[in-house]
Amino acid sequence: MPEDTTALAANLSDVQGSIARACADADRSPDSVTLVAVSKTHGPDRIRPILEAGQRVFGENRVQEAQGKWPALREAYPDLCLHLIGPLQSNKVRDAVALFDVIQTVDRPKLAATLAAEMELQGRMLPVFVQVNIGEEPQKAGVPPDEAEAFIQTCRVVHGLNVVGVMAIPPADEPPAPHFALLREIGRRAGLPGLSMGMSGDYETAVALGATHVRVGSALFGERPAAVPLAG
Ligand SMILES: *Cc1c(COP(=O)(O)O)cnc(C)c1O
Repeated sequence: MPEDTTALAANLSDVQGSIARACADADRSPDSVTLVAVSKTHGPDRIRPILEAGQRVFGENRVQEAQGKWPALREAYPDLCLHLIGPLQSNKVRDAVALFDVIQTVDRPKLAATLAAEMELQGRMLPVFVQVNIGEEPQKAGVPPDEAEAFIQTCRVVHGLNVVGVMAIPPADEPPAPHFALLREIGRRAGLPGLSMGMSGDYETAVALGATHVRVGSALFGERPAAVPLAG
């Protein structure tokens, strides 16, 4: 599907351009922002054109789905970097540590302990982000903002995790800027360089407020199917 390939490459170049402009406006180097291309729900046929256009950092939110498509792609592109950006259940930790290069969703002590043990076992000390429930929404994952600093310390000191940053998904129905600013403040207080914030609708705002990682899906790959029907 050559038209599709061209469209995907054009989307990538548009997003890269917008990030570069947002960086210039904020007096930041364009290298200070990593684009995490969120490929969840999309198959290898749509991911490959983005890889061919030079993108190497990708995000997936389900371990099992990622296992189905990334090992083969990694053989072709050994230098790619895969971020887990969705909730991680304890029984998926072994597979997640084996497959992913960065875990962005550490949000509870039990998970921190299980991850640390598994990384030790596999000899893969992956960088992790602590996920903060920045809008304190009951249905959302993440540690509450006022518990983030203590939890980050626990991850580092008790579990020896390599915590490199904080990650958040602001409430969908509120202006994101105050939430981004709060996340930046939490990261600053904890002395963490990494700030994973901003999605297709608001990544320029996130860059203006200091994001080091923006997680962009639909602006690159197009809208996702609303729901995947069950087989059978
Ligand atoms: C799906 C997802 C994204 C990307 O969302 P878009 O609006 O499609 O860019 C970013 N972060 C997380 C955690 C996601 O699950």
